Amino acid sequence: MAMRMSSLFLRTLRENPADAEVPSHRLLVRAGYVRRVSPGIYTWLPLGLKVLRRVETVVREEMDAIGAQELLFPALLPREPYEASGRWVEYGDNIFRLTDRRDDDYLLGPTHEEMFTLAVKDMYSSYKDLPLAIYQIQTKYRDEARPRAGILRGREFVMKDSYSFDIDEAGLDKSYQLHRDAYVRIFDRLGFHYVIVQAMAGAMGGSKSEEFLATAENGEDTYVRCASCGYAANVEAVRVPVPDAVDASGLPAAHVEDTPDTPTIETLVAHLEDAFPRGDGRAWTAADTLKNVVVVLAHPDGTREPLAIGLPGDREVDEKRLGAQVEPAVVEAFDEKDFAANPTLAKGYIGPGVLGSEKVSGIRYLLDPRVVDGTAWVTGADEHGRHVLDLVAGRDFTADGTIEAAEVRPGDACPSCGHALESARGIEMGHVFQLGTKYAEALDLKVLDEHGKLRTVVMGSYGVGVSRAVACVAEGNHDELGLVWPRELAPADVHVVATGKDPAVFQFGEELTRGLEAEGVEVLFDDRKQASPGVKFKDAELIGVPTIVVVGRGLAEGTVEVRDRRSGEKREVASTDALAEVLREIGRS
Ligand code: ATP
Ligand code: MG
Repeated sequence: MAMRMSSLFLRTLRENPADAEVPSHRLLVRAGYVRRVSPGIYTWLPLGLKVLRRVETVVREEMDAIGAQELLFPALLPREPYEASGRWVEYGDNIFRLTDRRDDDYLLGPTHEEMFTLAVKDMYSSYKDLPLAIYQIQTKYRDEARPRAGILRGREFVMKDSYSFDIDEAGLDKSYQLHRDAYVRIFDRLGFHYVIVQAMAGAMGGSKSEEFLATAENGEDTYVRCASCGYAANVEAVRVPVPDAVDASGLPAAHVEDTPDTPTIETLVAHLEDAFPRGDGRAWTAADTLKNVVVVLAHPDGTREPLAIGLPGDREVDEKRLGAQVEPAVVEAFDEKDFAANPTLAKGYIGPGVLGSEKVSGIRYLLDPRVVDGTAWVTGADEHGRHVLDLVAGRDFTADGTIEAAEVRPGDACPSCGHALESARGIEMGHVFQLGTKYAEALDLKVLDEHGKLRTVVMGSYGVGVSRAVACVAEGNHDELGLVWPRELAPADVHVVATGKDPAVFQFGEELTRGLEAEGVEVLFDDRKQASPGVKFKDAELIGVPTIVVVGRGLAEGTVEVRDRRSGEKREVASTDALAEVLREIGRS
């Protein structure tokens, strides 16, 4: 049925909503697609629901095309399976938990690996049943720390999640590739500009993992790309190329020096230049210093563990990279209370003396991979106002391991070919992930192989942010007047606007609408009698249906106007040819 604006459940707004930071959020609210209920929780109004359904259709068609079968799990789930996988605890504050009248624990599903695994365990027992791919398009719940940008990061959102089940790794590789190819088709159809990047494989079990990021300057994910070899990775997943160890045999012994008032790297470098000019004539730089940053890991079980990270002084710790390494623990600041509880740490002058080999502080100490054996550093001497020079890694101190937590910068060497990396931002739209046997082991999903032996099933998991896609498409398709939908996703195929007072105009608009409808075209018909032409045009521009047909004064002379929302181009067509012209315009003839 055509949507008629005289009765459509819609109110467009001329003003931007106060809480909207990004264009898609502003426009989707103003144009009457969604409305906020509470932070990160939105109502889909009729126009918005049409777009959401169209995105779902694209996703569904491409999933069905690779033989994946659709089903639907509940969103309200019992605690036990998530307890068995460890995620009841691991998810920490990020899931919504609730109890029923009997005091039993439930959660609102943030993602459904456990349920899919158990369903297959319930029904299948032989390798002959595999491979299998099943999926759902369903509402997910996550108590996001920072719900953001309207439906872009919601606390309730729609995800397509699918899972593959194979007897072995080779099967998983095939299933993974099928999904990856399907995702390329999905995002091509949705009209995104996107990149496929290597992603973190997660703390447990998983191996290969890639993300589909829609390129967007205001995206929350940062990725790097190498123009020379094509390497691309989410910064979280970048592995720094490890330099070769250096021969330290000729290096002087370490010596502690007074460096008063040098609690920061800048003050330290200035002081070094002043008091200890280098013998080789080169100036001291921040990269010559070893900075030791202490944070607290808040583990899901409630314990708090200090962690020290040693990295070259010209680099900051990247919160997201660190967070991705220590998941499911959450990184918190090491505050005054923590300093008081760890008296061996001299704030501003912390060094490997208390962190390293001797373990005086008792704190776990991890180094940036660049701090290889044989490299010499200026670093804290664990006393207020003092630093140690010529402290050599491997010779004078060791650590408990390495960690990829230092920021990745444009110009850094590509881990794959050594060329300079470029950096850009994006929005995660999809994620393909080789889970391996993590969930199958946790929930004991085994089938008999061809020799009658029990084998743990190998799984993959694949997600698309369906509701996020609506925001993301809007983010990439708008101008100063409003939204400009790609044809496949627009809430209607044609927006017919009748202007003026002449009943013949409305009569014609109605007939054209019905004619188009009979051809299977979805029409939004502005049949409002009271609204002025100006208001109607503004609304049409705001709503963003790609083809606008204006029926107005020209009708008396036998013409109507066909407008292209994207280019702004207008052309007059004979009213007698209007139906055929519009069908041609939208590619239906
Ligand atoms: P993010 O890093 O953005 O929080 P994620 O890695 O936690 O996402 P996945 O668990 O991989 O997300 O979920 C699959 C897809 O679901 C994501 O690629 C994304 O498109 C979408 N998605 C995840 N969280 C949200 C959210 N809060 N609101 C809307 N869509 C989301
Ligand atoms: Mg993800």
